[in-house]
Amino acid sequence: MKIAKDTVVAIHYTVSSNEGVEIDSTAEAEPLQFIYGYSQLISGLESSLEGKEAGEKMHIEVPASEAYGERHDGLVQAVPKNMFEGMEPQVGMQFRASTDDGDQTVIIIDVNDDHVVVDGNHPLAGHPLTFDVEIVSVREATDEEVSHGHVHNDDSCSH
Ligand SMILES: [Zn+2]
Repeated sequence: MKIAKDTVVAIHYTVSSNEGVEIDSTAEAEPLQFIYGYSQLISGLESSLEGKEAGEKMHIEVPASEAYGERHDGLVQAVPKNMFEGMEPQVGMQFRASTDDGDQTVIIIDVNDDHVVVDGNHPLAGHPLTFDVEIVSVREATDEEVSHGHVHNDDSCSH
C-alpha cells in the first residue's frame, strides 16, 4: 500500500544537521506513527513520503524553509536585566515568554551588565536537516482514527 492521505504510517528515522550531527533518532525506540496528510511532520519530510511503500529507505535533504523555518532577527530582543528580578540569567536558559505572537519559548543568548538578549527562534530555525527514513508499515486509517486525528493501536482508544 502506498502512503497517501488517511493512511497510518510507521517510520524509523534519524535526523541530522547538514554538518552530520545527529539531532534525534527512533533507532532505540518504537517507530514514529502518524496519520499521513495532516501536517503532523515538518513539511519537507511529509511531502517526500507521499506514494512510498513499506520497506523503502530514503535519504531526504530538507531546506530550512521546509523544516523549522528561517531565522527571524526580529525574534531576538534585548530586555533590561532588571526584568529578571530574583533570577540569575545565564546564557542557555530557556523559558516561556509572552510576546506579540503569543506565548513562545525563548532562550538567553547573551547577558551583559544592563541587558539580557533573548532569542525566540526555534533552536533549529535556519538549519537545513537531513533525514534517513525507513518506512516500517503503511495501512489505511480507520474512520475513528481519522475523526480523532491520531493513531489507535490494538483497536482501542484510551482517552
Ligand atoms: Zn482516539
